[in-house]
Amino acid sequence: MDDGYDRFVKLLDQSQHFPAQRLKALQDRGLRRFLRHAYEEVPAYKQRLAPLFSAGPEPDLTRWQDIPVLTRSQAQEESQELKAISVPEQAGATQTKHTSGSTGTPLIHYRSKLQQTANQAVLDRLFQWYQMDGNKSLAQLTTDYHDRASYPNGYAGHEWFRGQPQGEFFHLDTLKTTTMQQLKWLVQKEAAYLNTFPNNARGLIEAAQEANVPLPRFDVVLLSGEVLEDDTRKLIAETTGGAVINLFGASESGRLAASCPEHGTLHIHEEISFLEVVDEQGKPVPDGETGRLVTTSFYNFAMPLIRYALGDYGAVSANPCPCGRQGRTLKFVAGRQRNLFRFVDGTSKWPDMKLRELRTIYSFLQMQVVQDKIDHLTVYMVRSTDGVELDHTALQEAFRRSLHPSLNITIQLCDEIARSASGKFEDFISKITTESDQSLS
Ligand SMILES: [Zn+2]
Repeated sequence: MDDGYDRFVKLLDQSQHFPAQRLKALQDRGLRRFLRHAYEEVPAYKQRLAPLFSAGPEPDLTRWQDIPVLTRSQAQEESQELKAISVPEQAGATQTKHTSGSTGTPLIHYRSKLQQTANQAVLDRLFQWYQMDGNKSLAQLTTDYHDRASYPNGYAGHEWFRGQPQGEFFHLDTLKTTTMQQLKWLVQKEAAYLNTFPNNARGLIEAAQEANVPLPRFDVVLLSGEVLEDDTRKLIAETTGGAVINLFGASESGRLAASCPEHGTLHIHEEISFLEVVDEQGKPVPDGETGRLVTTSFYNFAMPLIRYALGDYGAVSANPCPCGRQGRTLKFVAGRQRNLFRFVDGTSKWPDMKLRELRTIYSFLQMQVVQDKIDHLTVYMVRSTDGVELDHTALQEAFRRSLHPSLNITIQLCDEIARSASGKFEDFISKITTESDQSLS
């Protein structure tokens, strides 16, 4: 059956060379069609989109800023009103999905097959950017939502790169497996490519080094689901010998941006979504400045999420990527609000501890930092096996230098750090919240 994949592939192949203006026109066309559909078929948008349609049946995009930002908690509450009464035939079947999210509160969302097809086409273009061969095998270590990728065998299938049926696809669940089990599985699979969460990749590398097991080499490592810190990216690139691709997106919004093969910048997928950087009031911030990331992915006709706040923060680069692709690029993606640390003097910061530096003081296996009071952190460290004593004072000093001088720090050695409900490691958790966070969480 024709699901639109070939048309997407052809379009994406051409649009990556479009001049910026033409790309913007393409995006506007997609947005307009999507807005008309949402206004007519989705109860939650009758009011929200009314300003755009006050002058007639064509949406007035100059009124875009009048559309309120939709938070995740609003989407949770209004999931039934956000579902389209009917969808156009080309949107394909509607699937029901449950996302776990970093807070563990599930969001029920409905997804058109067409959005999945668009995501696949964007991903396949990325595979081409990196000259990946769909006849080689790809191993995936992520949460298993289908209950089919349990240890020791995991799941085995084919065709992770559409149209290239020979390549094997392996998947192992990360939620119910230890790092050593994952490593053992990965060594057996001998895959050319790896797809996992950044912190999971780092955990594998560290466990391999600790156990003196050689880590498999990969041609490409694809990372998604968490913010990719720069020193994690370097560590993965050095140890696996492969190219590292940062995939930015969210399961309810689809794919949003991915690393440039030449420059590592994050290219925004302008063809399938409109990504904005806004302030707390929903007004755009200038290029280069940090704000809330708000997205409108315009192929999910089943449950349109228009101006949807991802809960992530970031900035759009003011300069185009030197590779020549004309879409905008993301300068960086900062952690979620949950990971923002606040201090007594009113300042705040996303923690960016240099793990290598900390390990020169104490070679812990894994670390989690919890801000439990405005002037206090509890640092959990999985104890080192090299026999070197922990120097509390030196570590506390390193934290104060990097984060804030007002902090008191308790370091607790432990044997294991639990994963979050979504199966990921969370390095930094802040329990200090303000009122504005409540609406964002
Ligand atoms: Zn580029």
